[in-house]
Amino acid sequence: MAPSPGSDVLPSVPPAATDGMTQATMVKKTAPKSDYKPADVSPQRRVQRSFAVRLWSVRHSRFLEWVYLRFSAMFLHLHPLWKAIGYGRVEAPIKFVEKRVKGFMFDCRMCGQCVLSSTGMSCPMNCPKQLRNGPCGGVRANGNCEVEPDMPCVWVKAWEGSRNMAHGDNILAVQKPVDQSLRETSAWLRVTALAASEREKSRLEAGA
Ligand code: SF4
Repeated sequence: MAPSPGSDVLPSVPPAATDGMTQATMVKKTAPKSDYKPADVSPQRRVQRSFAVRLWSVRHSRFLEWVYLRFSAMFLHLHPLWKAIGYGRVEAPIKFVEKRVKGFMFDCRMCGQCVLSSTGMSCPMNCPKQLRNGPCGGVRANGNCEVEPDMPCVWVKAWEGSRNMAHGDNILAVQKPVDQSLRETSAWLRVTALAASEREKSRLEAGA
């Protein structure tokens, strides 16, 4: 897809200066000059490293879907334990683990309403526009993002990942807008509590 018209990026950089430049180079060139140079810091290398794990997760989306289904069943099985301790009390340690595991594997931003299993294991919150329902019109011809030219479009990757998954067609479901009040909360616990309440409701209906 061609870049969308009027998709100006970094307007402070003259158009001629952007030719053939990556975003990391542009950021470096426009950064304020100072005598302090942090050791071993390369935005480009950092970005590539984080993309590598993120892209691995997309390539192995079917395996991760299988793992997640079992993991969520185990979490639901432990619902009586979470309830006995108190969901509020277990949130901090669970969130600590969730943030690190998903941060490493998916560059998770802890939106608290995870849709990874519907988006080919590609986190939509990594889209600079944070689009939750497919790509914008600015995907580059090479499949990269119009805002971050070095980054593969998370929605292109989401589609690729979804094609490997058993329930990949979940990507066609329309996602609700992000509820900002759920940021920095545990999606694992929220999904578990919701599933437990649904299960309880069905049992009551079946017994009525
Ligand atoms: S959808 Fe939300 S919870 Fe899931 S990986 Fe992305 S930021 Fe994290």
